[in-house]
Amino acid sequence: MLLDSRSGSPWKVEFWRLSGFILAGLVLGALFGHLAWMLVLALSAYTGWQLRQLYRFHRWIQVGKRSEPPHASGVWGDLIYEQYRLYQRNRRRKKKIAKLLNRFHESSAAMPDATVILGSRFDIEWFNGAAISLLELESPRDIGRRVTNLLRHPEFVRYMYSGDYSDAVEFPRGPDERVMLSARIVPYGDKQFLLSVRDVTRLHMLESMRRDFVANVSHELRTPLTVIAGYLEALADEDTLEPEIRRSLRSMESQSVRMRRIIEDLLTLSRLETRDTAAMGQSPVSVPALIHGIEEEARMLIGERGQHLTLALDEGLWLRGANTELHSAFSNLVTNAIHYTPDGGTITVHWHEDDQGAHFQVRDTGIGIPPQHVHRLTERFYRVDSDRSRNSGGTGLGLAIVKHVLQRHGARLQIESTPGEGSTFSCHFGPDRIVRRGSEAARAEGAKEVSYESM
Ligand code: ADP
Repeated sequence: MLLDSRSGSPWKVEFWRLSGFILAGLVLGALFGHLAWMLVLALSAYTGWQLRQLYRFHRWIQVGKRSEPPHASGVWGDLIYEQYRLYQRNRRRKKKIAKLLNRFHESSAAMPDATVILGSRFDIEWFNGAAISLLELESPRDIGRRVTNLLRHPEFVRYMYSGDYSDAVEFPRGPDERVMLSARIVPYGDKQFLLSVRDVTRLHMLESMRRDFVANVSHELRTPLTVIAGYLEALADEDTLEPEIRRSLRSMESQSVRMRRIIEDLLTLSRLETRDTAAMGQSPVSVPALIHGIEEEARMLIGERGQHLTLALDEGLWLRGANTELHSAFSNLVTNAIHYTPDGGTITVHWHEDDQGAHFQVRDTGIGIPPQHVHRLTERFYRVDSDRSRNSGGTGLGLAIVKHVLQRHGARLQIESTPGEGSTFSCHFGPDRIVRRGSEAARAEGAKEVSYESM
């Protein structure tokens, strides 16, 4: 029936229909007289017919769209046909979307990770089965509630309102810290958020077992090594020994010193990893005084190598933080610069402030680092050239310590280097850590330059 209406041009059909009505009016007028009235009658009949079609179309659109469309031809047939097709297409699309939505619900429900859909104000719109067991959510009680009212750990709340969701955040589920969770937000659509939460308790346990193991082994090795190094030192000083044996003893002694240094660094690292950042020292640290102390040590290390050491320090610029940790990080960077800069090279230490915060910078004219190694330097025991590092007394842990210390101070390490030309290691601290101290004169003077050449 509908296909009928598609055959031929609808306007042609309509033209012939109107012509039919007019012809009928003319014939009736010719037969019974009153031609004009008969024509008016024919046109009224045509209008009536059109109104009837309109009425049927309107009723079908309003109430009967699910039923078969009314039979019509010409332009009406075409209109009804197009409308019916649109309706059918919409129905198919709706069915498809409903199916997809069902499949999404089924797969999210089956996921082992808790999945929560949040609205623009972090209000819960939907969650899967895992969220019920892992986050103790309940439906419908928690639908519409803000997720930060239910998961109240400060780390999680800070993460939610930070707006930076590039990483996941880890936090304990309850005060007893027996269950550790890792949460990640994925923004989508128009201010919608998908919150995915995993149980990482096992991973945490393994990580803390690894940390404890390294700390315990290092601790247990420290005492026997100290005894061995002591005996080796005493023996090597013995005049009665053959020079050959004395040489071997000296070599054993220097190796034991290196082992002790590695153990000390491992212990420092595990202390940095286990100590709570909240309990870390937050008192003002005189960084200029700390750098002057490092300068003394550096002078001893430079010895006769003829490297030029230049300091440019803002003497009134202090930091809130842990003195020993900052000393360890800055000293590692200066020591590295000396180790990896040939005799006669230049090392510059900068300590200054700008609107981004405070910056500690060590620049050297040393051997530099090929670009492919730069991103791995802070890994434990990662060395560009193992032999050179060992010969210079390096443990391979220095930059790992620097990274941890900076992380604990909310700071960032930046490494720039050109092989054969030198490297710049910069530590960037946020403005919130800065403390202004010292005389007005020091402040006005800004960066005061201290320069000397080693002997
Ligand atoms: P190491 O004790 O071996 O110096 P670090 O963790 O301090 O260990 O440094 C890792 C590696 O980074 C070093 O082995 C060295 O190859 C490279 N490195 C560090 N600082 C510099 C520097 N100033 N110039 C060139 N290479 C450097």
